[in-house]
Amino acid sequence: MKRSSTQSSSDNSSKRRRSRSASDIEDEDGYVPYVSVKERKKQEMSKLLSYRNRRLQVVANEGDTVQEPAEDDDFGTRSKVSLLDQHSELKKKAEAHKVSEMDKQRQEEEKILHSIQETRALMSVGELAKGVVYTEPLKTGWRPPRYIREAPESKHERIRNKWHILTEGENIPPPVKTFPEMKLPRPIIDALKKKGITQPTPIQIQGIPAILSGRDMIGIAFTGSGKTLVFTLPIIMFSLEQEKVMPFGKSEGPYGLIICPSRELANQTHEVIENFTTVLSAAGFPSLRTVLCIGGIAMKAQTEIIRSGVHIVVATPGRLMGLLEKKIMNLEVCRYLVLDEADRMIDLGFEEDIRTIFSYFKSQRQTCLFSATMPKKIQNFARSALVKPVTVNVGRAGAASLDVIQEVEYVKQEAKVVYLLECLQKTPPPVLVFSEKKAEVDDIHEYLLLKGVEAVSIHGGKDQEERQWAIKEFRARSKDVLVATDIASKGLDFPEIQHVINYDMPTDIENYVHRIGRTGRSGKTGIATTFVNKLVEESVLRDLKALLMEAKQKVPPFLLELDSLSSDMLELGDDKGCAYCSGLGHRITECPKLEAIQQQTASSIGRKDYLSNSAADW
Ligand code: ADP
Ligand code: MG
Repeated sequence: MKRSSTQSSSDNSSKRRRSRSASDIEDEDGYVPYVSVKERKKQEMSKLLSYRNRRLQVVANEGDTVQEPAEDDDFGTRSKVSLLDQHSELKKKAEAHKVSEMDKQRQEEEKILHSIQETRALMSVGELAKGVVYTEPLKTGWRPPRYIREAPESKHERIRNKWHILTEGENIPPPVKTFPEMKLPRPIIDALKKKGITQPTPIQIQGIPAILSGRDMIGIAFTGSGKTLVFTLPIIMFSLEQEKVMPFGKSEGPYGLIICPSRELANQTHEVIENFTTVLSAAGFPSLRTVLCIGGIAMKAQTEIIRSGVHIVVATPGRLMGLLEKKIMNLEVCRYLVLDEADRMIDLGFEEDIRTIFSYFKSQRQTCLFSATMPKKIQNFARSALVKPVTVNVGRAGAASLDVIQEVEYVKQEAKVVYLLECLQKTPPPVLVFSEKKAEVDDIHEYLLLKGVEAVSIHGGKDQEERQWAIKEFRARSKDVLVATDIASKGLDFPEIQHVINYDMPTDIENYVHRIGRTGRSGKTGIATTFVNKLVEESVLRDLKALLMEAKQKVPPFLLELDSLSSDMLELGDDKGCAYCSGLGHRITECPKLEAIQQQTASSIGRKDYLSNSAADW
């Protein structure tokens, strides 16, 4: 035993000498030498200190963050760098590590977004081939009132801030706070008043002036916030202007084209426009002709109206393509194009159709895209089709309407149908019930009829007559419940829906946002109940959980238990959630929807050219 090396205190020198001589003797005798308690404590402490210093060194090398007490003790030697400094150094290292992780994530995301958008510019093949590029927005005769025109930009910005309107783009037209200041004709203002519409909503305050000024636009606002008027009022104004200058003759037109993803939505939008054109012509304004071009009904009636010359066409992509291909209609004088529920249309596989429709335009058009969910992927590739667009955003793209109380309940598969009856008691009618599958819609409908519930149903497998009848009955309130597939989830505006029941959770969160958006419209409150169970994909449940939290809704315990990404990673800078599908529970790098699509695309390589590249693969 060599104790001498540990005895370093100079004031102990005499003791040391003694103990050394004692130890010499005792070593020979084989006895354990006596060491005083004080001495032993000191030795122990010095051992501990040297161990700790060694460890700190190792930790610092690994870049770990172990919290160490900053104060040294009375016994040990002080290291040159204080523990406090070491601690902050370690913290810095850890943060740098985190930042580089975030940077890495950001770079990876940009790469993915870039790779998607590059191959999918939303332009017609003809435009791409000829390299046609329009650089300036179209000119219109509309100007805001002079006092608004001449007001400083800071005043416009204050209005936008007040209404939470976010804008992007060059030379954004000023927001206009009232309908008369938008210079709408009197009969329109009266017709709006009759419907109880007196004050424009935020998307209307900024969107209507932007479109009236001739600007291309991407409009994103909550479900039920009045987007329809943003694109219908300007097209009526433009058509009136045209008709005054030079009336449309036979087979001329359309001047404006509105494309919707479902026949029911096209029908509804057509009715909104007809309502205005009727009151206008009754008040002595030029009469405007509009036509509804949807599948499932004979082309003949549509053809007749088109041949007489039309100002506005409201269409679904399939029928429109048919009419264009058969040369019953052309877009030679068409100057105004709207894609309502634009992202839904792309998701439904209409992308190629839209590209083809674009190729029928012969000159520059004003293009406007609308939806409540417009993820970055669509915004980016849509920009290729727009000229100096104005993006107007009210609320996050993909956020649920805050006027909907969202309830999520765990219901076992076999208990669903019985529980549905109980759930229908939550509110008075009318109630909408959604299911993704046509067969299930039929089953639920049959069950409800058996139980004496006044129900109707629609899905894509039913003929158009039946679909129209069901919608009419439900709208007229002669039926209490409408059971539907997602065909009814986009854009339909039934009055006073009290309750939306999701019999199943849609596979993508955007559909969920659209479904529940059938209630809580135009400032009223509604309830949405969603049945989930263990058959639902965990990733969509994560998105749902994050969406509920964003809308400050109650999150049920089984969702709370799901582990989520840290909020740092979910919110990189200003970007929340996934840029591909706007799900809040993951980033684009883990997007299940993108993965599914990529798998599909990969498996279709080698198929016929037009198939492997077609939007139907989406
Ligand atoms: P979105 O397309 O944004 O989902 P809609 O355009 O279908 O919403 O409008 C939803 C409902 O709100 C419609 O019934 C419409 O008549 C009504 N509405 C539109 N604008 C206003 C307004 N400024 N004030 C009150 N209600 C409005
Ligand atoms: Mg709409």
